[in-house]
Amino acid sequence: MSRPSTLRSEPAGPGGQPTGRVAPLTQYVLKLASRCDLACDHCYVYEHPDQSWRRQPRMMAPATVLAVAERIAEHAATHGLDAVRVVLHGGEPLLAGAARLDATATTLRRVISPVTRLDLRMQSNGVLLTPAICDVLVARDVKVGISLDGDRAANDRHRRHANGASSHHQVLRALALLRSPAYRSSYAGILCTVDLTNDPIRVYEALLAEEPPRIDFLLPHANWDSPPFRPDGLATPYADWLLAVHRRWLADGRPVPIRLLESLLATAAGHGSHSEAVGLGPADLVVVETDGTFEQVDSLKSAFDGAAATGLDVFRHRVDDAAAHPAIAVRQTGLAGLCGTCRACPVVRHCGGGLYAHRYRAGDGFDNPSAYCADLLKLVRVVTTAPAAEEPPRPADSLSPQVLDDLASGTGTAGSAEQLADVHLALVRALLVALSERAASDPVAAEGWRLLVHLDDTHPGAVRAVLAHPFVRWWARRCRDGAAELSHLACVAAAAAVRARVRADLPVPVRDGVVSLPTLGALAVGPERGVVRLVTDDGEVRVGVRRVTADAGRGSDPAREDAPDGWLPVRPVHGDGVRLLLEDTDPYRDCYDLPVEPRLSAAAAQRWVRQLERAVRRIDAETAGYAAGVRILLRAVVPLRTEPTGRSRSAAAGTAFGAVAVTAVPDDAALAVLLVHEVQHLKLSAVLDVCDLFDPDDTRTLSVPWREEPCPVRGVLHGVYAHLAVADVWRHRPGPAAEGHHRRYRAWTDTAVDALLDLDVLTAAGERFVQGMRATVDGWP
Ligand code: SF4
Ligand code: SF4
Repeated sequence: MSRPSTLRSEPAGPGGQPTGRVAPLTQYVLKLASRCDLACDHCYVYEHPDQSWRRQPRMMAPATVLAVAERIAEHAATHGLDAVRVVLHGGEPLLAGAARLDATATTLRRVISPVTRLDLRMQSNGVLLTPAICDVLVARDVKVGISLDGDRAANDRHRRHANGASSHHQVLRALALLRSPAYRSSYAGILCTVDLTNDPIRVYEALLAEEPPRIDFLLPHANWDSPPFRPDGLATPYADWLLAVHRRWLADGRPVPIRLLESLLATAAGHGSHSEAVGLGPADLVVVETDGTFEQVDSLKSAFDGAAATGLDVFRHRVDDAAAHPAIAVRQTGLAGLCGTCRACPVVRHCGGGLYAHRYRAGDGFDNPSAYCADLLKLVRVVTTAPAAEEPPRPADSLSPQVLDDLASGTGTAGSAEQLADVHLALVRALLVALSERAASDPVAAEGWRLLVHLDDTHPGAVRAVLAHPFVRWWARRCRDGAAELSHLACVAAAAAVRARVRADLPVPVRDGVVSLPTLGALAVGPERGVVRLVTDDGEVRVGVRRVTADAGRGSDPAREDAPDGWLPVRPVHGDGVRLLLEDTDPYRDCYDLPVEPRLSAAAAQRWVRQLERAVRRIDAETAGYAAGVRILLRAVVPLRTEPTGRSRSAAAGTAFGAVAVTAVPDDAALAVLLVHEVQHLKLSAVLDVCDLFDPDDTRTLSVPWREEPCPVRGVLHGVYAHLAVADVWRHRPGPAAEGHHRRYRAWTDTAVDALLDLDVLTAAGERFVQGMRATVDGWP
């Protein structure tokens, strides 16, 4: 290590204590840059009383980075720390550029990693993120969190350039980069500062649309001298804002971890908080400024000039000295470090007095409750005491361990299937909210969006039924990527209006001569393309002089020939609790690698519908454990073109969640097997949407008995999960042929489960999931 001879145990700075036994520090915020390319008006670095940034060098010099790294390594070795977290921060750390970031991360890893595990992160506004920088982040294993306050209107309220220009499109570009498969491993999440002016649900949906691995909400900086903004004298507006998010998050099945809420739930379960904003855990964190000085947490800069200073630096002082500084040490003492009011508070175990900076009042410093006390009290009470019946089970990576275990058995209860369906719906809603901003500049889409938002308030069931349709998600996904027409949003809204049996009058697009109404069917209108005016009223649809009854009941008879009025209804499959459609009209059913059948004749449709009804009944009778998944998750069956060889084919796509595509098969028994098999793929896709079961960066492949070429881990997992179910179906059928099929699929499952467990590629949740499958196979006679 450099400078070893200068290492001395010195008294801490003004007011400091000599080092003695100190609680070690495991988290380090490194100010790589002390300037920023944005000028957010809520920034605690530049817009608050502490203006010390003006005295700092613009960038942390390589020699300072090395000194910091050595100090951290020394501290970790002294205290035998298992791991430390280093967060590259600013100002804006991306101002350092790719080369300096690379050098910084390399130095930190070279010096710290031999001593302890280094969790290296960065917090950024994202504006300057480029593929070259992402390459560095992935190569050096740096996880980056991006600051985003919601949709464009919300984000523009504060997060602007110095000339007032919006940063929103630049931040979205950064998030798109981080979402891409090449860089996803470096995507840590989104940090959002609460602003009461923004609608909480719109903010939540905008954040969810960016598919972050994690969301964190931050209360705006305030203290007793500079109290939180409270409109109209409201007592707890911040709690109310966060509780609106909390309600929606619970209703959505917790599709993404929200750190503040998860932390409160963790304290309610008797665990530690994951956030310095709540809980009684020690705040074992120190900041290193660009000149190498140790400081206390950045948020203190909102209190007074010099509030975060310690008088210590990495060249002359050890981390032990910083840890022993009274202002840092007091934050390690949990309950004892709080004021009398907090210590006597009934929710102190969950709240912990809130963020340290929010307790400041001139005269008595930080010996106060939080300036957000009333909000925290209400938030804690509601979040930590919500009745269990109203809450879905606690998630592990977003799905509860119970649900994960239930699905891992291969089958799954109706409750687990409903939770997967809820997650799907939340993802669709998030995609639509992301599209709604672009819809504002498309007159057809804009009218559709307004109608959909209105119906979501007045007839949520009708909207839900349409949004759950598999090909709405596929269309929205392609639309987000610029590969589908935004105006189809009007068709989605019109279908919801028909289902709600309300009057609506809006423009809709015509494609290939038809207006498509998802879940209902299509209306042939004449012109190949263009826009027509569509009026719905009490389940009827009128385009020009054409008037048809388009509500769901119209398609109930599959034997009915397509009427001369041009209405091509989707044919429903009937059965107790079945919500299944034979889908041969939706233009977005083309998401498979296999060619789909065009519109079927009435006779062909009737054969399909009757056979599907019998196949579902057969699944109920012979393998009831799979019936819930089929009944709840399967929304559409798409007929595929028969291959010249006559070979049966089937497919499912997570991006069209709820749909299965199949060629015509000879008998009900074969169709039942195909449906169970493909619904397994849907279930696993939904699990993988919200839960990492394996390391996505691991590109190794596995040899599997059912394919000649080696398979990536994702493919093996899918294969095993489907074959487990198929083996189970054959297990329940009589006869030597069924016995043979069962043995073959069981052997495939056995071999691949062992291979997965041996490869050391599964996450903890993944291992649990695969062990669940292993237990099912081992439990068969
Ligand atoms: S991006 Fe961050 S550091 Fe930069 S001005 Fe905004 S809040 Fe401050
Ligand atoms: S709710 Fe108020 S009094 Fe209670 S611990 Fe939190 S800040 Fe302190």
